Amino acid sequence: MPTNPDSPFDGALRFDAVDLIGKPGTHRAVERTVPAPARDDLGVAMQPAPGEPIEVAAELESVVEGIYAHGTATTELVGECSRCLDPVTQDIAVRLDELFLFPEKVKADEREDAVLMEDDIVDLGPLVRDGLAVEAEDRPLCRPDCPGLCPQCGFRMEDDPEHHHEVIDDRFAALQGFFDDDAAEGGTREDRG
Ligand SMILES: [Zn+2]
Ligand SMILES: [Zn+2]
Repeated sequence: MPTNPDSPFDGALRFDAVDLIGKPGTHRAVERTVPAPARDDLGVAMQPAPGEPIEVAAELESVVEGIYAHGTATTELVGECSRCLDPVTQDIAVRLDELFLFPEKVKADEREDAVLMEDDIVDLGPLVRDGLAVEAEDRPLCRPDCPGLCPQCGFRMEDDPEHHHEVIDDRFAALQGFFDDDAAEGGTREDRG
């Protein structure tokens, strides 16, 4: 099920900070472990498997303008090697760092770009989601020198580094046939004209 894009993890990373409001200098540690959402929610090559625990640990600090949240989210991402399609995992620790502003401290025309507190709540969900997407490998590799697949037949080159093809590339052969047909058709048309 798709989750609310404005509150990823179904709001499970929303923390009530009402006890810190108006007390600059006070702070409180928060910890929560949430299951990763369905795979296509993040839209990147490496993602936590659905249900994979994401451990979030953060410090909420009261400041004059709002609540400053900083900490980490740790989990394991899974994906496929971009060359050979073998499974790849990536342990990841995303830094969380955001100042949630009190709405009344932000001018109306600046609210769209600001991260605001809502009902005395600090929602770390968007930070975690965006952080995972940024830190995830775009083109994961099972190892830096992965030889990948044979471009002609898809054979795993790692299984036999000597693998190669003696015969002419099938695609090239097909292309030659195409040109031959084309020439024949052209001739027919000339005969008609
Ligand atoms: Zn590979
Ligand atoms: Zn091959």
